[in-house]
Amino acid sequence: MKKITIIGTGYVGLVTGACLAEKGNRVTCLDIDTEKVDSLKAGKIPFYEPGLEELVQRNVAAGRLHFTGDYNEAIPGTDVCFLALPTPCNEDGSCNTSYILKAATQLAENLDNDLIVVNKSTVPVGTAEDVERTIQSSLKTRGVEIRFEMVSNPEFLREGSAVSDCMNPDRILLGIHSQKAELVMRELYTPFSVDHDRILVMDVFSAELAKYASNAMLATRLSFMNNLALFCEKVGADIQQVRKAMGADQRIGDKYLKAGIGFGGSCLPKDVKALKAMGALKSHSMPILDSVLEINQGQQETFFQKIEGRLEPLEGKTIAIWGLSFKPDTDDLREAPALFLIEKLLNAGASLRLFDPIAMPKAKLLLNQYDQVLFCEDEYEAAKEADAIILATEWNQFQFIDFEKIGALMQNKTLFDGRNQYQKSEMQKLGFDYFCIGTPKEATPLSSAYAPTQ
Ligand code: NAD
Repeated sequence: MKKITIIGTGYVGLVTGACLAEKGNRVTCLDIDTEKVDSLKAGKIPFYEPGLEELVQRNVAAGRLHFTGDYNEAIPGTDVCFLALPTPCNEDGSCNTSYILKAATQLAENLDNDLIVVNKSTVPVGTAEDVERTIQSSLKTRGVEIRFEMVSNPEFLREGSAVSDCMNPDRILLGIHSQKAELVMRELYTPFSVDHDRILVMDVFSAELAKYASNAMLATRLSFMNNLALFCEKVGADIQQVRKAMGADQRIGDKYLKAGIGFGGSCLPKDVKALKAMGALKSHSMPILDSVLEINQGQQETFFQKIEGRLEPLEGKTIAIWGLSFKPDTDDLREAPALFLIEKLLNAGASLRLFDPIAMPKAKLLLNQYDQVLFCEDEYEAAKEADAIILATEWNQFQFIDFEKIGALMQNKTLFDGRNQYQKSEMQKLGFDYFCIGTPKEATPLSSAYAPTQ
């Protein structure tokens, strides 16, 4: 049993803390956001993540999980301290590591014993060394001698399945340069790696880079498919069929091949930009990343143009949007494609009827000031009198829609399916004017698929 402190109690910090407590450790989650800490102390989880509430409640009740906003309460006596702090983009796209370095200083100011410091945030190569220097300099100022080791342990959990990802990880990546630290980290993580050895130990720089490389690869697959989807529309092919054929190839695999309205969220966009910026610092160009970002931006723009092209003028039109979070099973709205569409549609003078199964409270905080936005109770209320529906996030409940009822509620039966959730033939049979991604609206005559465009 280790005494663990997690600095930063957000998506990564809270899930990691609760999972480590579940494996018998004594964990304190520390955050400077006092509102968040107070709400956690009162048993309220500050964001939606399936399975997290029960996990937190169970471990708090067992006396293994605690919350505090006070460094002096959390740090003394800690064996292993995790840093799970934000690493947003600077204006030039590079990673802003100031939250990590600030927390490292606060940690050092309160240290009273030897420990291991583990960085879980996604950070540029060399950040563990920066953190080490920051802590050393603060300890020197204090005139105390405390030994600590740095470990890089990037996190790979996915919002929406974070608890199960953390309990059953694909891999546990450890960038380590001492055997002593490796022993402690292996002891901590072995309970998460019982059936298969999931622990990968490597040097610190490689571990730091591996996280960016993984996210950039996922983003590249998505942008490739999104770009291909638009080509499918031009030549009369169907991206859904093309995807199935590609995914059946074991060298390719079938994950992250779905075309849609572009990727969002708190990780992929910022991590691709940060990797590109890291390359630029070393005069190393990564043109593939430029394309990934350009295609992603273009994908959202093209989808908006499809909507505008069909409904123009947008001024005075009523549009329902189903799904606001950047993906299902989370209430995280960071860089959600729905927000891009909302901004464009509002600027064009449309009125919006919004519904999301979980993200409504967060959406209200962001969009409450707009008179043309109405927050609805469910997807049916959102559809009332609408000139069109946009499916922006593929929540499970949107798969079981009574479209006859929906059609009767709408002003015009038009549906823009940004996630390719519905069957074109069925929607057309129900009388919907149906648009999706990567399938031509009308069947393309064979002879004209390759006819030169005007
Ligand atoms: P988050 O914004 O949800 O949480 C960060 C927390 O840190 C906030 O609660 C904030 O109040 C707190 N904080 C900021 N400065 C502090 C300080 N000095 N002392 C104490 N607490 C402080 O962030 P997140 O989504 O959990 O991401 C954390 C890191 O993990 C980022 O680097 C991110 O890229 C990476 N990551 C995130 C995910 C994800 O799905 N969210 C997945 C893998 C990796």
